[in-house]
Amino acid sequence: MSDVRTGGCLCGAARFRLAGNPLRVGVCHCQDCRRASGSAFNFFGVWPRSAYEGTGELGAFAGRGFCVTCGSRVASLRQDEAEIMLGCLDEAPSDLIPAYELWIGRREPWLLNLQWAEQFAHDRETGETAPP
Ligand SMILES: [Zn+2]
Ligand SMILES: [Zn+2]
Repeated sequence: MSDVRTGGCLCGAARFRLAGNPLRVGVCHCQDCRRASGSAFNFFGVWPRSAYEGTGELGAFAGRGFCVTCGSRVASLRQDEAEIMLGCLDEAPSDLIPAYELWIGRREPWLLNLQWAEQFAHDRETGETAPP
């Protein structure tokens, strides 16, 4: 795994750089992730906030960040963590593999579950509140 990963939005106005490896990588099938992405699920990684460096303006709705110019979901920045939409990474496919799946009851029936990944009916059972 590389030490630094870069990525950005579709129009290029919002760019970011991530140092080191993610704390966790997952997939979420919940209705909010479906709606926010317009897709069947969300593939995301969480880094310590200090590992994230970004340029360009990000708007936010309900804690979910997006490029204000093109609307791409890029990163959701919280006080301690940065949640990155992994489809925004420059390297595609990425070298990251999800370790868990959330809201599996919302998974499209034609998607197979990831055999190695921990499966959760809802959010992770850590006492944390959403987003994952
Ligand atoms: Zn953009
Ligand atoms: Zn979700």
